[in-house]
Amino acid sequence: MALRRGFKAEAERIATETWEAMNLEPGDRMDGVALAKHLGCSVHSASELVDIRDLQRLYDLQKNAFFACTFKFAGKRPAVVYNPLMDEPRRNSDVAHEAAHLCLDHQLSRLKRVGGVAFLSCDKTQEEEASWLAGCLLLPRFALMHDLKRRLSQKNISEKRVLSTDMVAYRIRVTGAARQFRS
Ligand SMILES: [Zn+2]
Repeated sequence: MALRRGFKAEAERIATETWEAMNLEPGDRMDGVALAKHLGCSVHSASELVDIRDLQRLYDLQKNAFFACTFKFAGKRPAVVYNPLMDEPRRNSDVAHEAAHLCLDHQLSRLKRVGGVAFLSCDKTQEEEASWLAGCLLLPRFALMHDLKRRLSQKNISEKRVLSTDMVAYRIRVTGAARQFRS
């Protein structure tokens, strides 16, 4: 992954500012839906737009076909749509990923088709940036340090923050927090 120089520091800074603006303390949980709403989006379950049975069919066909996406219509606030069939940690990170695109003012330009449904997505660099920033927003370094200082296990952290254990392990690794707490 080749993120541009300075991006990682910028992402932590955006996360810190966003937590402050949302009045969250380090021990609090960042909720993807609350984040998207804070950024001015409306948030919807895809079942409001399509029949849940069609979603189920798509899911049965290809489990990772659809997680979440953002629609922008002229003059309207952006709408984030998530797949209600995903578990809560997955949904949390998918909605946060969409919110991260908005934070970074990414332009949705690439048309992607999945199971006959068209989605707009961003280019590869922007996808990488959004994924990185979503991780920072959900579990910023300061929040991770807060939990590690209290000797919470990765499982404890993932449960309390409604994140996958993979996401927690990933954030511990990329922030260097693991090195700091190895004794
Ligand atoms: Zn994306």
